[in-house]
Amino acid sequence: MGETIFAKIIRKEIPAQVVFESETVLAFKDINPQAPVHVLIIPKINDIESAREISSVKDSQLLGEMFDAANSVAKQLGIFESGFRLVLNSGLDSGQEVPHIHIHLLGGRKMNWPPG
Ligand code: 5GP
Repeated sequence: MGETIFAKIIRKEIPAQVVFESETVLAFKDINPQAPVHVLIIPKINDIESAREISSVKDSQLLGEMFDAANSVAKQLGIFESGFRLVLNSGLDSGQEVPHIHIHLLGGRKMNWPPG
């Protein structure tokens, strides 16, 4: 897979507002926020394009760490109790733009359903 803008963010070659970082996971504010809180949670490895490449056999640990990070950031940014939405766009019809798996953490306002 080709390198994405997220690989440059991981290497700190382009700036991002980082809200959480561990050895394996990075979380930073979305540049074009769709809600008062809009954070992207990504693995620091570059070889998973979308949720379609996830399997329990190889990715259980990483997925757990990404969800731990989402919960931690939700607490840190004050939306854990009020609630939030986690989104994983995967492929063309979902509108995925960056082919590096990421969880959108959205909150701070009432979300609509269906999502459109
Ligand atoms: P997707 O549409 O692939 O699910 O979501 C990609 C997200 O990455 C979009 O919400 C977009 O605003 C965000 N994004 C794209 N480029 C950058 C960037 O350079 N910095 C940050 N912080 N977010 C970005």
